[in-house]
Amino acid sequence: MAKSEDRCSFCGRDKSDTNILVAGLNAHICDYCIAQAQEILNEEIKSRDEDGGLGSLELLKPFEIKKYLDQYVIGQEEAKKVLSVAVYNHYKRIMQPPVRDDSDVEIEKSNIVIVGETGTGKTLMARTIARMLRVPFCIADATVLTEAGYVGEDVESILSRLLQVADYNVAAAEKGIIFIDELDKISRKSDNPSITRDVSGEGVQQALLKLLEGALVNVPPQGGRKHPEQKMIQIDTKNILFIAGGAFHGIEKHIGSRLQTNMIGYSTKGKKEEIDKENMLQYITPADLKSFGLIPEIVGRLPVVTHLHPLEEDILKRILTEPKNSLIKQFTKLFELDDIKLTFDDKVLDFIVEKSVEFKLGARGLRSIVEAILTDAMYELPSQKDKKELKITLKYAEKQFSKSRLINLKVA
Ligand code: ADP
Repeated sequence: MAKSEDRCSFCGRDKSDTNILVAGLNAHICDYCIAQAQEILNEEIKSRDEDGGLGSLELLKPFEIKKYLDQYVIGQEEAKKVLSVAVYNHYKRIMQPPVRDDSDVEIEKSNIVIVGETGTGKTLMARTIARMLRVPFCIADATVLTEAGYVGEDVESILSRLLQVADYNVAAAEKGIIFIDELDKISRKSDNPSITRDVSGEGVQQALLKLLEGALVNVPPQGGRKHPEQKMIQIDTKNILFIAGGAFHGIEKHIGSRLQTNMIGYSTKGKKEEIDKENMLQYITPADLKSFGLIPEIVGRLPVVTHLHPLEEDILKRILTEPKNSLIKQFTKLFELDDIKLTFDDKVLDFIVEKSVEFKLGARGLRSIVEAILTDAMYELPSQKDKKELKITLKYAEKQFSKSRLINLKVA
């Protein structure tokens, strides 16, 4: 009789009847059983994916969602809180069984608008939420969108992109997150004279409205109108969460005049509230988006409005070191892969922040500056076998930075 180590522990096949018999701790598995196990695995993964992956999702509570965001997004406490609640409510809503009769309460979707200067973390927040939930995520730039029939991208192209990210799994795409950047740029021209586009922002807003409201949309799988022969795929946008972002330059004026009107009302009653004029964004409401030039229907479909603060120096410094994948951690890791221990003097971090502020590069500039400081070292050190440590001093950082092309970026 064959010894147990000569048999597959699953099907009992003798070693001589198999092509390969793989040995484990106390068991063996043959190539036939491996193939079968792989099939079972594929089936299981497919059935999980078909429910959009959410079937197996344990929905975190708002507090936990915020904690997750805290690992990647520094500061912006209020926005993180508002976003955590909105995302929690959204996914709680779509995990509900469908509404059966009139007595059931139907929870409406809460798309979100984040107002804040460029580089303050709008995209980062939306992307982090999508990563946490493991749902498909894509970014659409509102400025390239046009009404159907004009040169530019149809709003449907956004869905094509989401579908591609979801690997053409329609159910997964239908539970994804779309970040619409620069929403402010499609506001009505009359309210925003800086816009020189031919196609009125209002037309794009109308087209976008359809997606935000929830509609069955025929989507060209490859995007664009260049392949009229391609078969359309239908996507229901009812459960897609839209997060829109924009700088909304000048909205403070609208907030101010609204508050002023309210203040007049107040003062007649003898009450006067202090307004923090330095930070008007904190008072933003959907009404201000409307007076800025978004059509009321769009505003109605973006009920959650939050704002981000400009990044102060202390926040920029924390961004350099604190997030889970902070720049300093990333570069330290890169050097570590070459067995080199990279460290920075604290003054260097201050210098990086200082330059980023001075050159008006914001958080995005931090990476370029760190790259500028480290490029020579990254080029030379991997070939120097005996170099096992690199300490970046202020003197070294200043020298490297002054040599870099970034120095030419300085705006007067
Ligand atoms: P926005 O969408 O507001 O223009 P991003 O989200 O693209 O800005 O931010 C640009 C980069 O700046 C991000 O990749 C991130 O590295 C960094 N960043 C901005 N704000 C923060 C923040 N609050 N915490 C951590 N990193 C940030």
